[in-house]
Amino acid sequence: MSVSPRVPTVENDSIEDRLYTVKYDDPGDSHLDVKVPGFCAERCESYDCVSVCPADVWRAEDGGVPTIAYENCLECGSCRFACPYNNVSWEYPETGSGVSFSHG
Ligand code: SF4
Ligand code: SF4
Repeated sequence: MSVSPRVPTVENDSIEDRLYTVKYDDPGDSHLDVKVPGFCAERCESYDCVSVCPADVWRAEDGGVPTIAYENCLECGSCRFACPYNNVSWEYPETGSGVSFSHG
């Protein structure tokens, strides 16, 4: 007999609505940064940190060094590995802060 995993009912349709339900305790300091801003501003053409992030944390509307809305971070780690220059400084937020999930 197979057992199906319990899948929570999601009432909100849009990504924005779903992200709005994520609880985040702000530690007051960003756990994300770029190591060398010059790589972003002068060498990077792909901006993979921006395109890979599911929560719209990284933004580079005019090129240059991306801004980082760390308080939206889901701690998935994707930006850390997507950057072709290994230029993302990534740590977990201070213990007791950061994102908390209701399911899983
Ligand atoms: S992918 Fe890396 S080098 Fe490019 S903008 Fe993002 S952090 Fe900077
Ligand atoms: S860890 Fe994930 S959610 Fe957080 S900024 Fe990086 S890609 Fe976005």
